[in-house]
Amino acid sequence: MYTSTDNRKPINVIMFSGGASSAYIAYEVSMQYGNENCVLFFCDTLWEDMDNYRFMEEVSNYIGIPIEHRINGRTPEDIFFDMGYLGNARLAKCSEELKVRETVNFIEEKRDEGYEPILFFGIGPHEKHRAENLREFYAHVPLEPVETRFPMIEIYKEDVDVKSIIVKEWKIRLPRMYNLGFSHANCGGRCVRGGFKHYALLYKVWPDRYKQQEDMEERFRQKFNMNVSILKKMGDHIH
Ligand code: SF4
Repeated sequence: MYTSTDNRKPINVIMFSGGASSAYIAYEVSMQYGNENCVLFFCDTLWEDMDNYRFMEEVSNYIGIPIEHRINGRTPEDIFFDMGYLGNARLAKCSEELKVRETVNFIEEKRDEGYEPILFFGIGPHEKHRAENLREFYAHVPLEPVETRFPMIEIYKEDVDVKSIIVKEWKIRLPRMYNLGFSHANCGGRCVRGGFKHYALLYKVWPDRYKQQEDMEERFRQKFNMNVSILKKMGDHIH
């Protein structure tokens, strides 16, 4: 059972996405609070690009904190079929099930062990709305509010060029998806929230993955007898 907040020892949980910003935040937080008080937390959707694992491993070794690698065991596709709802730019339950739920479970486990998790996100100033949504969400879930921090927004007033720090100072190659033109390295370019431009790039870079998405869409339509699609209309935003 939970102990009260006052009795718990703070533990800094870096929400490690496999991207450059969360890697940089992990470094800064570990320098400030000490490696022993930090966790590199990664939720694997099983759609990740293989080069992300290489990047995360190298970052983990550089900083000196092992990765808490959470695998729900289902892919976003499994979630869509389980829920009978095909994820799209407006609503994607995959993230809720594979990332948020796993995070909430982890928070509860840590509280049971006597820790009070503080979540650190690598979200930048251009995604303030996402930060607000996350702050609002974790203020109410699970049983007690969870503190959230967004150092890229709250602390660094000027844009930090995290990518060049990682490449030039840490000597770590970025996940290959960045060089291929993707705006984020999540779900191997298959993010159902991506929108048209994102999927156009996927088609150009990895036509086989694009085809897998088309096939998934078709299987879903057949199974549920619904005329639904991942892409909605021109102008869908990039996640
Ligand atoms: S990155 Fe996109 S497809 Fe992957 S879990 Fe998040 S919302 Fe779903």
